[in-house]
Amino acid sequence: MQLVFATNNLNKVKEVQALIPAHIKLLTLKDIGCFEDVPETQPDIKGNAIQKAEYIKQNYGYDCFADDTGLEVDALNGQPGVFSARYAGPQRNDSDNMDLLLNNLKDKNNRNAQFKTVIALHINNKLDTFTGICKGEITTVKHGEKGFGYDPIFKPNGYTYTFAEMDLTEKNSIGHRGKAVQLLVNFLNNL
Ligand code: IMP
Repeated sequence: MQLVFATNNLNKVKEVQALIPAHIKLLTLKDIGCFEDVPETQPDIKGNAIQKAEYIKQNYGYDCFADDTGLEVDALNGQPGVFSARYAGPQRNDSDNMDLLLNNLKDKNNRNAQFKTVIALHINNKLDTFTGICKGEITTVKHGEKGFGYDPIFKPNGYTYTFAEMDLTEKNSIGHRGKAVQLLVNFLNNL
């Protein structure tokens, strides 16, 4: 089976590839000749995932899935949420985003947060969504070099170290995207 994963983020491809059964061949946007920005203009995470999957199906004809992820911080009423990628501005810079978040939390005692991933799958002319959540807290400084995005400042509940200090297998076993992908894989295995 061939499935497009509608992303240009090679870190995400690596994470998902590690969880997808071997008989499913993942194609990236590059593989199908899609080089434009796929629109993600919806007001919430689920809406963006659906928009991306539908865009690829409509414009390129492939069965595909797309993910959208946000970091929801309790003390900031769920922000940055759907704005996580451009929190500190349109340059979409991980380091700037983390610095702004740390600054916005500097006087807050409650540092609870969660990552939420929604995967939208468009297959056999039907759309399904799968949600994965990982709860944790925002550290006061960055720790670790692995992973990407907000990983250096997110410490999952029950752990003394951040996502950026974990290897891929450990992050996938407890992480938001890992959980959503597991639901996706269960669904695909039952088709
Ligand atoms: P998107 O899903 O690519 O739109 O990501 C939204 C924002 O969340 C970007 O700033 C990503 O870097 C960040 N992000 C997405 N997934 C993760 C993750 O697994 N760990 C840390 N940050 C992430």
